[in-house]
Amino acid sequence: MSDYLFLIESRLNPEQWQVVLRMQKAAEARGMNLYMVGGAIRDLIGGFPIEDLDFVVEGNALKIVRELSRQKVHIPWQNDSLRAAEMEFPSGVSASVCMARSETYGKPGAPPVIAPATIVSDLKRRDFTINAIGVSLNPQSRGLLLDPTNGLADIEKKELRTLNNYSFLDDPVRIFRAVRFRARLRFSFEPKTATQYQNATESDAQEMASGEAVAHELRRIARERTPVEALKALEKEKLLLVLSPCLRDSRLNLQEIGRASKISHSLAKAGLLAPSFPLFFYLLTRKLPARDQTRLAKWLKLRKPETDLWRRMEANAKRLAKQLGGKAASTPTKLYHLLAAAPADLILFLQLLFPQKKIQARIKLFLQKQLPLRSRLPEQELQEMGVASGTPRYQKILDTHFYAVLEGKVRTRTEQKKFLKSLVQKGK
Ligand code: ATP
Ligand code: MG
Repeated sequence: MSDYLFLIESRLNPEQWQVVLRMQKAAEARGMNLYMVGGAIRDLIGGFPIEDLDFVVEGNALKIVRELSRQKVHIPWQNDSLRAAEMEFPSGVSASVCMARSETYGKPGAPPVIAPATIVSDLKRRDFTINAIGVSLNPQSRGLLLDPTNGLADIEKKELRTLNNYSFLDDPVRIFRAVRFRARLRFSFEPKTATQYQNATESDAQEMASGEAVAHELRRIARERTPVEALKALEKEKLLLVLSPCLRDSRLNLQEIGRASKISHSLAKAGLLAPSFPLFFYLLTRKLPARDQTRLAKWLKLRKPETDLWRRMEANAKRLAKQLGGKAASTPTKLYHLLAAAPADLILFLQLLFPQKKIQARIKLFLQKQLPLRSRLPEQELQEMGVASGTPRYQKILDTHFYAVLEGKVRTRTEQKKFLKSLVQKGK
């Protein structure tokens, strides 16, 4: 019974595992049943990288969300009628939680009638069998696998299978999801699903997808390891035309999106998280006429902070480029302060779209020299010299030492040690 719990614990990173424990504790305190579901379980079993965690509770999930939000967990999105929310934990882990529900569909594209339900009904309302698997996180049955539609077999067979004949018509955004998962996981459509997909797209069901649901998909694509692959697959199926009839050929900015994702991988190695959805949206729509951009943002019902960041992206980047090329970054210390305070997105933006040598060289210095130095502060030596860690004096000495190294005032290891000693003796 506990095999799947073992799998969860061994495949999640320590920060993600802490989130599971935190969710378990919060659900237990309220006597609610908690399950891990969706993409995280699919990726766990299929051996794919696990990005974010999806939870379901039998009961009002928002009670847990409210408590977590009081404990420094950021809630970028919440839906009161679905009792669902997205969460960003201080450790950088992102997760979602919702109330277990059943869904009954009427007209295509129209939202379903929802009702609180058990976990099994909840799993049966999902898009594909591979996404309809859950693992119990409850004291009585922790680690128990719930797989009412035999998604496990489809993971083995590398197939995408819908849960009913009307799945694509009920919720046409699943057409987009099918194409994205097929490209990302390198799965194929199971024959019946392939027919349903063909019938749905031939009757243009994709046009009935709701803007909000498509926006959710775009946010997911922005976080893909290779967003270009997903976009190419959608383009091939002519699905991007639903977003804008102009989003094709040279107006589809795949080249820059591809370069941006390469840069973001190298930024991630330096500990900087980029790109965000607003930057992805900026690049995706960059070559569209302004009118189309605005129309699309409206249809997608982008969240206000997203729209604000997207609209200001270019002006903010220009401002940072100006500072970076001028006096505000004319010394190593100033450069460090400027870029350490800049959002990673804007750094990526400049790397991508501001080829000026000075700008590129300064960013390179920051990423390749300054950040590694910052991560190797002589903390242990300082503690050995008797300065208690965590005190303001401790931090001040570390900072003074760091800036002196940046400015090239102390170069060799011996010089650095001597300088550190002198700072301690001076009582700095
Ligand atoms: P990813 O790895 O890209 O996050 P995911 O499968 O976790 O993929 P999410 O968009 O995070 O996808 O959604 C979480 C889960 O919610 C899915 O696995 C699926 O079970 C369910 N889900 C999401 N969108 C739909 C939909 N339109 N119809 C039915 N179920 C859905
Ligand atoms: Mg997910």
